[in-house]
Amino acid sequence: MSVFSAPAFDQHELVSFCSDRDSGLRAIIAVHNTTLGPGVGGCRMFPYASDEAALHDVLRLSRGMTYKSALAGLPLGGGKSVIIGDPYKDKSPRLLEAMGDFVNSQSGRYVAAEDSGTSVADMRIMAERTRWVSGMDDNQYGGDPSPSTALGVYLAMRTAVHHRLGVESFEGLSVAIQGLGHVGFYLARHLRQSGAVVYGADVNAGNLQRAVEELGVIAVDVADILTLKVDILAPCAMGAVLNERSIPALRSGIICGAANNQLATVSDGAHLKDLGILYCPDFLVNAGGIIDVHHQRAGSAESVKQAHIARVENSLAEVLRRADDCHRPTQEIAEGLAEEYLSVRAVPPVALAAVS
Ligand code: NAD
Repeated sequence: MSVFSAPAFDQHELVSFCSDRDSGLRAIIAVHNTTLGPGVGGCRMFPYASDEAALHDVLRLSRGMTYKSALAGLPLGGGKSVIIGDPYKDKSPRLLEAMGDFVNSQSGRYVAAEDSGTSVADMRIMAERTRWVSGMDDNQYGGDPSPSTALGVYLAMRTAVHHRLGVESFEGLSVAIQGLGHVGFYLARHLRQSGAVVYGADVNAGNLQRAVEELGVIAVDVADILTLKVDILAPCAMGAVLNERSIPALRSGIICGAANNQLATVSDGAHLKDLGILYCPDFLVNAGGIIDVHHQRAGSAESVKQAHIARVENSLAEVLRRADDCHRPTQEIAEGLAEEYLSVRAVPPVALAAVS
């Protein structure tokens, strides 16, 4: 497996591999850029089909974190980690402790948080072995940043709806959510409370049932959710769902969801634009979680955090305006804006205070 010539390698500052015989841990940490601060990002657990797939994911995800934190105006860099394994079968306290040791060995250049396949409880186990874990301090959800991510996506969606449809309300609009897990569930709740008709699909029958019973989400087959004729599609499961095969079949005018790396390739952003589909860049709209993690660390008041998350709306409005002005894909505009931000804010790394 090659690293420096891997397609997703982008001058990452650090890529570190771990194999722990006793616990069975196999994991990768990638730190993309620490210009603005330490590489903070989620620790994902997923049964990757190959080591190459895991490397590809962690390289892309850590790069996305660099852009996400920069656009959100946070003193944080881009990092991410992946544990290769099935979170429902392979997770154990021993494995999480070994992951904590692995994070600790990076001496603070990478700071972990929960992600798909891991939970706040898992982070607490890792934190027994390292102080470089975040996202488990007190917020009203016990440290879980997902409600903040969902709020940011909801606010971004409101901006996109206003931009594209010229309306201020979700009343009567339809939204299809792929994945009703941590973020998807809270997003569905905001939308239902705002009067939207929400369709949802999930490979996990329990998660789907909960959204149907508690929120009145209309259940849709997993195979049909992406191609539903709705006003807005919200990918909230895994990445690369917008690709050369799926895009021609899409029937929604706006795409705005929480999943990281929704576009399989750069050209998919251009393809969406050519079809007249408004794509809201994932790393911009799903920044609520990292903003939450930052404010947990800083001990900020809830109102400060909420005001910061609300700035996602302004950032998206600016990106959509620039994209219209120069007829370019929104993803390119958002990345360019983040690059601008990185270049003017080229400050030495700011170490996060240790978790006590
Ligand atoms: P999660 O694991 O809690 O939820 C994902 C849900 O998607 C699960 O219910 C899963 O069963 C379902 N799913 C998986 N594959 C599916 C498929 N093919 N079709 C339909 N459903 C499927 O994860 P989460 O924390 O809700 O995060 C969702 C996405 O948002 C991930 O891509 C994550 O990286 C991203 N994200 C999350 C946060 C956060 O704060 N949790 C922040 C930023 C980005």
